[in-house]
Amino acid sequence: MIYFDNVTKEYRDGTPALEEVTLSIAPKEFVSIVGQSGAGKTTLVKTLLAELRPSSGSVFFESVDIHTLPSTSLHHYRRKLGTVFQDFRLIPNKTAYENIAFAMEAAGRPDDEIESDVPYILDLVDLSDKAEHFPWQMSGGEQQRVAIGRAIVNQPDVIIADEPTGNLDPVNTFEIMEILKKINELGTTIILTTHNKGVVDAMKKRVITMEKGRIVRDDPNGHYIL
Ligand code: ADP
Repeated sequence: MIYFDNVTKEYRDGTPALEEVTLSIAPKEFVSIVGQSGAGKTTLVKTLLAELRPSSGSVFFESVDIHTLPSTSLHHYRRKLGTVFQDFRLIPNKTAYENIAFAMEAAGRPDDEIESDVPYILDLVDLSDKAEHFPWQMSGGEQQRVAIGRAIVNQPDVIIADEPTGNLDPVNTFEIMEILKKINELGTTIILTTHNKGVVDAMKKRVITMEKGRIVRDDPNGHYIL
């Protein structure tokens, strides 16, 4: 369970980004967070990733206030979260296989697990035939699928996808959403931020709408309404 308890965030220059946000997200939920640019979506996600500290209020993950964790435990906490971003963030001189394998190496996983898990993940994101391709040899949609593979390979509890389809055309957007849906059905919580009305409406899942740092709507089977 993720719980934002009355979280307010004001940036150092005084810009208010979150205003008294209270929100809970249950395990295995698929939640879309929508809102215009500047509404506070990325700030919300960054407080969950413990990249930003709230000015007041708390963020709990499985009943632990993550902003009170010492740095050693923070490392362990962040392993429970997988991240996917609009700009893919792949390592340019590594192949699809190596990008995913590298995430396992960094987590200290043994070679035999890497050798068995990476092909499984490549198959899950439908990229078995592109294993030896470098990012520059792949389309945006394929690169994003590698990034999703990398995000899930260490079996996080939650995937945070911040505008994952922002750079993609409709066909690739559809494919990415299908993969996120599949990962969710396999038991991973998904938190998606997006501007894409079509994406949100097609999902028919919970939609949280933000406006000026506040949650203004929270619909269990929502549509994108602004
Ligand atoms: P969204 O992701 O919905 O576009 P953000 O969380 O990025 O919204 O931004 C929320 C508000 O905080 C906006 O007014 C934005 O200009 C401001 N903001 C974001 N990052 C910073 C920062 N590092 N310093 C000051 N203000 C920021």
